[in-house]
Amino acid sequence: MRFLLFLCLSVLLVSCSQEKPSDLLTIYTSRQPQLLEPLLEQYKEKTGIEVILLSGKAPQLMERIAVEANATEADIFMTVDAGVLWQAGEKGIFEEINSEILNKNIPEHLRDANGKWFGLSKRARTIVYNSDLVSAKDLTSYEDLAYPKWANRLCLRTSTKVYNRSLIASMIDADGFAATKNVVQGWVNNLATEVFSSDTQVLKAVSAGQCAVTIVNTYYLARLADDPKYSNLKLHWANQGGRGTHVNISGAGVIKYSKNKTEATKLLEWLSSNEAQETYAGANKEYPVMDAIAVGSILKNWGPFKEDLILVEKLGSLQKEAVLLAQEAGYK
Ligand code: FE
Repeated sequence: MRFLLFLCLSVLLVSCSQEKPSDLLTIYTSRQPQLLEPLLEQYKEKTGIEVILLSGKAPQLMERIAVEANATEADIFMTVDAGVLWQAGEKGIFEEINSEILNKNIPEHLRDANGKWFGLSKRARTIVYNSDLVSAKDLTSYEDLAYPKWANRLCLRTSTKVYNRSLIASMIDADGFAATKNVVQGWVNNLATEVFSSDTQVLKAVSAGQCAVTIVNTYYLARLADDPKYSNLKLHWANQGGRGTHVNISGAGVIKYSKNKTEATKLLEWLSSNEAQETYAGANKEYPVMDAIAVGSILKNWGPFKEDLILVEKLGSLQKEAVLLAQEAGYK
C-alpha cells in the first residue's frame, strides 16, 4: 500500500514537472517567423518570458489545436485575415478575453465583440495601376472597375484567396448581394487574362503592361517599391468618396486550453502597445491598429486614407456568401 502511494506520488510529481513553465509561451502561427522573432526577442529581454513559435498553414494549425485540445502547447493562435480569425472563433479554440488594455488600444471594429480575437495590424487592399497606361483621375472605386471602360485592362488574383473573399464580403455588406454580383461579373468581363495565384505576380503583370489595373494588399506593392523596374506601379486609395478603402487585419487570440492565459493575454496587450505596434506593423509594411503610430517612408508617401470601418468580424460571417457570389459570377 505504502509502495502504491509512493508510486502515485511519483506519477504526480512527474506530471507536475512536465507542466509548462510559466515563463514560456507558445504561439501557433501562419505568419512568417522572421516577422515576429525580433519583437519576441525584445519581449524576452523586457519580461524574461520566452516565446516559442510553431509555424504552419492556418487551417491545419486551427485543426491541430482543436484536436490536441487540453494537451495542446498553444497559448496563442496568430494569423492573418479576419475571415480566418472568425473561423477559429467559430471552431471554439479561443478563450474570451476581457482586457481593458486591449479594448482601449484596439479600435472596436478591429476585434471580436466577445474578446475571442484582436486585430494587431491593418492590411489595406486597394487599387494599383500602371501609370504609363492609366491616369489617376480615371480611378475611383472597386465598383468602377466593373465598367466596360476597363475591358481587357483588369488583372485580378484568384477569388479562392481569402483576401478577395473578404473584399467581396465587405462589398456585400455595403452594396448587397445582387449589386455586388453585378460588379464581380463586370470584373470578370474586364479581365485581360486568367486570374493570378499571388498579389506579387499580378503586380508584375500590371507593371509589364499585360494589364493596366489591379487590386492588391499594399504591403506587396511596398516590397517592390525599392526596385526601379516597378516604378510605374502607383497606388490609388479606393472608394475615398464613399465608405473608404477595404481594410483587413492580422491578429491573434488566447487559446481556450492554454495553461497560461494570464501571460498569454499580457503578451497580446504588449503587442497592442505603442512600444510594439510600430515594429509589429512595420515588419511586413502593414499599418498599425492605432492611427497615432508612425509608419515607414513608403507608407508615408502613399498618404493617409479613409478606411472602411466595417466590423471586421463581418468579413468572416459573410465569407460563405462571398464564395457563393464569386462562383455564381464566374470569378475563378
Ligand atoms: Fe499576404
